[in-house]
Amino acid sequence: MTSEYSLSPQFIDLKAQQSLIREELNNAVSKVLDHGHYIMGPEVKELEQRLIEFTGAKSALTCANGTDAITLILMAWGVKKGDIVFVPAFTYVASAEAPAQLGATPFFVDVKEDTFNIDPVSLKQAIVDCRELGYKPSTIITVDLFGQPSDIDEIMQIAENEGLKVLVDGAQSFGASYKDRRVGSMGHATTTSFFPAKPLGCYGDGGAVFTDDLNNAEEIDSLRLHGKGVEKYDNVRIGLNSRLDTIQAAILIEKLKIFDEELIMREKVAQNYTQALSGLLRTPKCPKQKKSAWAQYTVITENRVALQQSLKKKNIPSVVYYPKSLNQQEGYASYPSVSSGLHVSNFLASNVLSLPMHPYLSHDMQSYIIDAVKEFFKN
Ligand SMILES: *Cc1c(COP(=O)(O)O)cnc(C)c1O
Repeated sequence: MTSEYSLSPQFIDLKAQQSLIREELNNAVSKVLDHGHYIMGPEVKELEQRLIEFTGAKSALTCANGTDAITLILMAWGVKKGDIVFVPAFTYVASAEAPAQLGATPFFVDVKEDTFNIDPVSLKQAIVDCRELGYKPSTIITVDLFGQPSDIDEIMQIAENEGLKVLVDGAQSFGASYKDRRVGSMGHATTTSFFPAKPLGCYGDGGAVFTDDLNNAEEIDSLRLHGKGVEKYDNVRIGLNSRLDTIQAAILIEKLKIFDEELIMREKVAQNYTQALSGLLRTPKCPKQKKSAWAQYTVITENRVALQQSLKKKNIPSVVYYPKSLNQQEGYASYPSVSSGLHVSNFLASNVLSLPMHPYLSHDMQSYIIDAVKEFFKN
C-alpha cells in the first residue's frame, strides 16, 4: 500500500511530531497567554531546571539562539581581539562567526573523515603553528557535527596540556552521549540550539549554554540581560539582549517529554540506513562509546550530484551540509588555518550528502529511500 504521501518523504518532518502532541502544545502556549509573562516567565526557569536534569550539567541558561549561546560563553571567558579560537573548518558558519564577532581570530583545523568531528592530530599541529606564529591560543571550539559527540577525552587532554578552554558546540548533538555522559556535561562548557530543525527544536529561535562553572553561569545570566546587576536598571557590564521567549520555553518543555523516545527512533532509522547502504557508499561511523543524536544522516559519495538528481526524481529530498568548508567561504577566507592543510574538510564539502532523517520516518519510507539509492548504484 503506497499512498501519495508515502512516496514523498520529508527531509525533517516537524508536522508528524506536532500532530502527536498538538493538544499539549496548545495548552502550554495557552497557559503563557493567560499569565502574560512573555519574557523570562516561569516556563523559562522550569525548562532550565529540566535541561539540568536531562544533561547532568550544573547549570543551564537559555538564550535567543545557538549562535548567541557561543557568544555568551566566550564573553564570560573574556575571549577578545587577539585571541585565537580553534574551529573545525567543516561546520556551520556560526561556530566561527561568534568568535569573529568578538574580534577574536578563528583558526581553522581539519576534521576526521569517518566521524566529521575535529581531528585531534590536526588540532595539535594547529596549536604548534599558532605558537610559532606568535599568536595567543585561547579556546578550542569542538563541533558535534551531525549529532555525533566529539572525542572529548582526547580534546580535553590536549587542552589541559596547553592551558586552553574547550567549548563544545552541541547545536546538532543535544541528546547525544559519550561514555554515558550526556552532551551538556562535557568540556568546560557546551552550547546548543533549539532552531526548529535541530534534534530538540522550538517554533522559532532558541539556544542554551551549559556549564559546571557557576561563576560563568552567573555572568551569562547577566550578559543575556544587557549586563544587568542586582537590580533591573543596574548595568554592571556590557551585555546582549538574548533571551528565550517564554512561549518557546513552554513548547520545549512539551517536546522534551517525548525526546528520549525520539532519540531511540532516530537511532533505529540510522541503523537501518547503515545496514542497507554501507556496501554502496560511505555511511557515517559512530564508535561504540558514543550515541549520536542523528541530527543528520550524512553519506560520502563521489557521485553526489547524480545521486541527488536521481533521488529528486523520486520525490526524495536530500541536502548538502555543507557545500563549502569555512576556509572556502569569502567572509572567512582570510583567517589562518593549520599548516598540514584542510584536505578532509575540503573533500567532505565536495562529497557529502544528507538523506532524510527524523524520528517519524516510517519503515516504508525508509525502504523507499534505500531502494532508490540501491537502484542508482545499480546503473
Ligand atoms: C545551528 C548551528 C548553530 C547556530 O544555531 P542558531 O540557533 O541557528 O543560531 C551553531 N553551530 C552549529 C554547528 C549549528 O548547526
